[in-house]
Formats: sequence, structure tokens, C-alpha cells
Amino acid sequence: MKEHYDVVVVGGGPAGSTTATLLKKYRSDVSVAIFEREVFPRDHIGESQLPGINRVLDEMGCWNKVEAAGFPIKVGATFRWGKQPELWDFEFVPSEIFIEYYKDTTRPARFEGPRRHTAFQVDRSIYDKILLDHAAEYGVDVHQGTKISSIEKQGDKIIAVKLESGERITASYFVDASGGAGTLRRAMDVPVDYPSHLMNVAFWDYWQNADWAVEIGVGGTKIQVMSLGYGWIWFIPLGPTRTSIGLVIPAEYYKQSGKKPEELYLNALREEERISSLLGNARREGKFTTTKDWSYLAQRQYGENWFLSGESSGFADPILSAGMTIAHMSGREVAFTILELLKSTERENWLKEQYERRQAKRIGSHIRFADFWYTANAQFVDIQGLTQKIAADWGLDLSPKNAWEWLARGGFIDDDLMTGTGSFDLYCVKHLAHLLADIPPQHPRSEYNVFRLNMDGAVHRHRAIYRDGTVTAGESYFREDKVLPIDGAFKRIFEILKRTPYMEEILPTLEQQIASDPNVQQSKAAFLDCMQALEAMISDGWVIPSLDNRRRRANFSATNSAIRPHKDTPGHRPTE
Ligand SMILES: Cc1cc2nc3c(=O)[nH]c(=O)nc-3n(C[C@H](O)[C@H](O)[C@H](O)COP(=O)(O)OP(=O)(O)OC[C@H]3O[C@@H](n4cnc5c(N)ncnc54)[C@H](O)[C@@H]3O)c2cc1C
Repeated sequence: MKEHYDVVVVGGGPAGSTTATLLKKYRSDVSVAIFEREVFPRDHIGESQLPGINRVLDEMGCWNKVEAAGFPIKVGATFRWGKQPELWDFEFVPSEIFIEYYKDTTRPARFEGPRRHTAFQVDRSIYDKILLDHAAEYGVDVHQGTKISSIEKQGDKIIAVKLESGERITASYFVDASGGAGTLRRAMDVPVDYPSHLMNVAFWDYWQNADWAVEIGVGGTKIQVMSLGYGWIWFIPLGPTRTSIGLVIPAEYYKQSGKKPEELYLNALREEERISSLLGNARREGKFTTTKDWSYLAQRQYGENWFLSGESSGFADPILSAGMTIAHMSGREVAFTILELLKSTERENWLKEQYERRQAKRIGSHIRFADFWYTANAQFVDIQGLTQKIAADWGLDLSPKNAWEWLARGGFIDDDLMTGTGSFDLYCVKHLAHLLADIPPQHPRSEYNVFRLNMDGAVHRHRAIYRDGTVTAGESYFREDKVLPIDGAFKRIFEILKRTPYMEEILPTLEQQIASDPNVQQSKAAFLDCMQALEAMISDGWVIPSLDNRRRRANFSATNSAIRPHKDTPGHRPTE
């Protein structure tokens, strides 16, 4: 063990491994150490991923290793959630396309075709070890069983971390990737906000030999999210024989029930017929665990020579399965930021502020969407009044119905050119608002025919683009908490709208541009992206639509939403 490193990372979970691996990938001469208090493999909650993680794993050079471990492929989720007790499905890739693509192939497969859009359901004891070993292969000094017990600081600067054994390690930069422990965050006295009224507790255990509810093609499945009147159950197969099953309930309900966590847990599993039917041959591993899981957000994401990454900087809610995605993405951005700072400190403030704004927004919008998700569940009997409290926190006085509507709308464009939240694109969000909260879906692109740019009060500013180990400045506009990146589909629409506001002129220009662009591989998908960008720009106030009766309206067919009524596929446990 050295006494000094360029970068010290506290914690060897997904955020820590991502930061450390990417630092070494792009600058092999930089010395990086991870200090992890446990010895891997170790169990950890947070098993259901989102497709966005794939690109980071691929960049880290370990997608193939994760695929080779044979984790179930997450094609989507089956929900019992909303106005009706009927099940519905959300699919990243439609099951039939997935089956068709994989009918003649086996695993391990390559990171191509539909697999670029699926996710994994991972046994964290295996997954986190693959990632940590991978970091070591890239040249990171990985110290397991090594807890950071205190730090030495001077003002806002961390001078050294101290190990339980008493050793003192100095570094130029420190990264807190210690998850909920928030080792550096606490030591640097960073307060956290609790921007939600939803205070839940989670109870879970692992089960052997539970049946899968759904099996699609080569190891594809969907996680099950079943709401009860007072909470909800997750059911996540992690491998051929191991399944994670958890119960989430409001802390208040737990207190008032007067029951022990394990009793509440087992009752819920018995009571939920779809889940209990999968447990006929199953047995518990007996690793029953409980935690409180309320949302929080650190008030600062960086200091003089340190950054918070992953869950140490905030936590949304298990319902959106977004925690690990946030951990991987923030780990990547922290690595790129430090790589730039090691080259030059000329843009130091800008680099740090960009990371903080993105990370806080990423977590904040997931918290807000999780609030919507819970409050829009008509099956939850006690929760609806909360919507008003949540809206009030944002300075709004709304009826529950209007509060739902407000939670479901706005803030749909993020810096990564995404138009949605937690893997739900804008069409899915609209579909969800309808399904969950009776908010009629509106499609302004076909209801109006004049689309005027509204840049009033917008400020032109550079936003960070994180690519290939660098952070460059991209064009964008900001207004309050909204961002309009002038890139990709947004740039195309923005440039066309600068020339004409009329749909009858927008469409042919767009079609012609797409047809003549050699970089466009699928023109239909590119066109739909642009239409979605237009709708997101309307939702976020960058475009004001209106109707001119002298002009034609475009007649669009229905949108592709990844949400459908549930179709049961015969369930069985795949053979080992
Ligand atoms: C009930 C529940 C369900 C969840 N479900 C999901 C889900 O389905 N999908 C999803 O994506 N996310 C989920 N999450 C969130 C997910 O668990 C986290 O977002 C994710 O693990 C964060 O990764 P991380 O690398 O930031 O932290 P962690 O994975 O927690 O890793 C931090 C590491 O730091 C180590 N450490 C801590 N303190 C020290 C110290 N002082 N010295 C050295 N090492 C230290 C720890 O041992 C640990 O290995 C869930 C969370 C909860 C509470």
C-alpha cells in the first residue's frame, strides 16, 4: 500500500469501481486506490438495473464479463400499480422482438442489437466482485477489508484518510463512493435534504428455487412489482435459482401495525397471489434484512479536492430501479472531471459546478417522479393527501388531482438528451399519467400546427459533455431548472424552428434533412426522436404551440409506448 495516491476512492461498489476503472482506462499513469471495508463477495441490495448502465459497462470494458456471469436479462417489468388491479407491462424491448432476435443464439451474447437496450438483474455479491476485480486488472490498487475510519481535513480540503489500522493515506483527490454510509460526506459536514414526504421501510430476503413469473428467450425476464393496499412487493430473479423478494411499506404503517417486520413480510408474500404462486417450491435463505429507504440529496456534491459519487450523494427510491444507474453514471462523470482537473485547473469551478448540477438534477428528478409514482397509485389507500404536501414543498398549492398532473409533467429534457425519467421516455410518461392518474394524454404535435420557439429569459450557457475521458463544452440554453441542449434531435428541431414555426413546413424540411444525413441509420427512429424532442420542448416551455385554422394539421398515428396490458408467458424456472 502506498502512502500517497493521485486519487483515493472510498467504497468498492458500482460507483467506486466505475470511477476508478475509468480513471485508469484513460490515464494509466494516474495512481488510484479503492478502500473497501468488506471482503467481496458480499450481499448488497439494489439488484434491478436499467439499460443506461450497459453503455457504462461497455466503456469500462466489462460488459462481456457481466454477460458471461449469466444474470437474467431484464426485458422490462410487470406492474400491479395504478387505478385498476389489472397487471400491465413495461418493456425496454418488446418481448416478441427479443424472442425473434435470440431464437437461434445462446448466451453469452454480444453487446449489440436488442441487447443494447435491455438490462441485467444482478446478484450484487457476484456483480460487485466482477467490477472490483476488473478495476484491479486495470491497475487500481484495491484494498478490501480496509475501512476508512476517519479523515484529516483543512477547511474544505481533505488531507488524508485514516484506516482502522491507523495508517494514513494522502491523495490529490478523494471520492466518496461509500454508498449510504457517506463516509466523506459526513466527515465534511455536508447536510442532506429530504425532499419527499414518502418515508418507507424495506424488508427483504433471498429465496432459492422460486419460479420465474416470465421467461422470454435466452434468459430474459421481467421483474414483478405488485402493489398491495398498504405497500408493494418486488420480485427480482438474480440467477437460475436465486430470487430477491422485498416488501416496501410506509414507516408509519409499520409502526402502527404493531407487528414484527418478518411477520409483515411473510403475510404480504402469502397475501399477494401472483407472488405466492411462484413460491410453492421455494425456500428462504434466512438473510432477512430491513432498512429505511427515504429519499435524500446532499446539499453539496463536491469540495476543494473531493467529490460525492453514487448513493453517498443522494438516493431516490427503489420503485424506479435507478440507484445503480445513478451510481454508474455519476462514477463516470466524477472520473472524467478529475481527469480534466489533473490536466489543468483552469476550468475548475465550471467542471465542479457542472457535475453538481447534473448529479443533483438526476437524483432530484427521480425523487420527484417517485413521488408521482406513489401518489398516483389509487390502490394505496392512505397516500393521496401527500401529493398536496409534495407540491407545497415546491411552492405550489394544488388539489391532489392537479398535483399529480404537475408531478407527471415538466423537466423532461436532461443533459444527456433524454426525454423522460428513469428509462421512461416522454410517451411512456404520458401513457403512465393516463394509466395511473387519469390524466388524458395530449400530443400537441398533432393538436396544433404552429410551433414558436420561446427563448424569453433563457440564458445561453455551456453544458458539460462527458465523452471518451474528457469533459467538453456543449451549447445549451438554461431557464430556471430547465435545460435545452443544442445537440442531437433537439438541435435539429431548434434549427428548423428558427426558420419556420409551421408544421406543414417543419415536416418536409425534417424528412429531407434526415434522408440526406449519412449518419442516420434508421430514418423512422430518427424522425420519432425529433417528434419526441419537439413534445419535450413544448412540455418544458421552449416551444409554444398554437392552432391556426387556415393551416393544415399533421395527422400522426399513435405513438409507440413501451407500456402495454400484461400478457402472461408460462412461467418456469430455467434449468441450471
Ligand atoms: C431497499 C432498496 C432497494 C433498492 N433497489 C434497487 C434496485 O432495484 N435497483 C437499483 O439500481 N438500485 C436499487 N437500490 C439502490 C442501490 O442499492 C444503490 O443505489 C447502489 O448500491 C449504490 O451504489 P454505490 O456504489 O453508490 O454504493 P454501494 O453499492 O452501497 O457501495 C458502497 C461501498 O462502500 C463501502 N463502504 C462504506 N463505508 C466505507 C468505509 N468507511 N470505508 C471503506 N468502505 C466503505 C461499502 O462496504 C460498500 O461496498 C435500492 C436501495 C434500497 C435501499
